[in-house]
Amino acid sequence: MSSQDPRSRIPRTDTLLASPAALEATERLGAATVRRLVTAAQDRARRGEIEPEQVAAVLAGSLQRSPTRLHPVLNATGVVIHTNLGRAPLSRAAIDAICTAAEYVDVELDLTTGTRSKRGVAARAALLARCPAAEEALVVNNGAAALVLATTTLAQGREIIVSRGELIEIGAGFRLPDLIASTGARLREVGTTNRTHLVDYADATGPETGCILKVHPSNFRLGGFTAAASVSELRALAAEHDVPLVVDLGSGLLAPDPMIPDEPDASTTISDGADVITASGDKLLGGPQAGIVLGRKEIVDRMAKHPLARAVRADKLALAALEATLSGPDTPTSVALHADPVRLRERAEKLAATVGGEVVPHDGRVGGGGAPGVPLPGWAVALPESAAAALRLGDPAVLPRSHGGRCLVDLRCVPESEDERLAAAVRAALGG
Ligand SMILES: *Cc1c(COP(=O)(O)O)cnc(C)c1O
Repeated sequence: MSSQDPRSRIPRTDTLLASPAALEATERLGAATVRRLVTAAQDRARRGEIEPEQVAAVLAGSLQRSPTRLHPVLNATGVVIHTNLGRAPLSRAAIDAICTAAEYVDVELDLTTGTRSKRGVAARAALLARCPAAEEALVVNNGAAALVLATTTLAQGREIIVSRGELIEIGAGFRLPDLIASTGARLREVGTTNRTHLVDYADATGPETGCILKVHPSNFRLGGFTAAASVSELRALAAEHDVPLVVDLGSGLLAPDPMIPDEPDASTTISDGADVITASGDKLLGGPQAGIVLGRKEIVDRMAKHPLARAVRADKLALAALEATLSGPDTPTSVALHADPVRLRERAEKLAATVGGEVVPHDGRVGGGGAPGVPLPGWAVALPESAAAALRLGDPAVLPRSHGGRCLVDLRCVPESEDERLAAAVRAALGG
């Protein structure tokens, strides 16, 4: 390398590592990551991609990176519970609770006595306060775990009676029959795909029955000539044979919501006679990933004591976030679900006025398997389809809906406080 070689002007590693930006970043990102970024910046100069004099600035830029490779995304799809975007976004209260729980916390300690306490008491109390119809509550890792725990506890080695119209597949890798088979219970299918009557359940119920299971079909809908037994009807049968009635609700709605009248809720389902319901924490409940179990004390206690409960227990971050979700302000999920169409139109018009594009009617969706086919009336800004990729790759990343040869930007799930950042991102994506 001659002294004329520009590579001789590349700053040395120890010089770069001693810079204030690198020292500050070492706290945030760790020494190994900082060293890697230093080498990467030097390598770019070695390859001639940047001038040696630019290495320090390029390094300073790359040191600004977040400690996670997950990118925040503005959800401009109009789909409220977007599975690919991590389902429910958390409320500020839930995020703060997660930060508190991230350090040492009294999750299993009674500070007054200094002795061990029960895990998850606050989340349990918050659930029961929001669903007084239930005698007892239990939080586990996710909805699937709640269902597996219920069926394992109640029906291992025995039969679970379930309607053929409810043997569903929800998203990738969740096939209800497979999940139940994995618990060591036998599935006793009754009825037909489109019609199952109370008598079908009655004919199958007997000494081998571990429980009767009713599943909300979530992401699919039967139409036409259909019949299903209601929870109240099944209650009578379950009581007659003294077998538990389990209802997998999926969405985690705790009380009826007039916006989605056909979506079952925990309070009504328990009042109608379910012994226990299972649901997700991060669908319509609007909280963290969690599995919710609500119902009769005797059954929930049995589930909590089953050895499997330890394998599917909720972590302290989820317990804290769930408690804050339940006792805190309206969730972002609820806000998006109930967004006023008039206000959505005003916001869309304001966006179109600054970036161009046409304001068009656009129905949002509940998503996440909730209320399929139920439109949430609103508006979107229609842009050329080519804008979609640029929006995804922009900063902030924006996920629009690509539909009918257009890129649709729906503001339903974008917090209003983010409208200006969204407008800037759209402007940048359109090359303006
Ligand atoms: C979503 C869903 C599940 C699975 O819940 P996870 O929290 O994703 O594990 C189970 N049952 C029904 C009816 C659902 O809709």
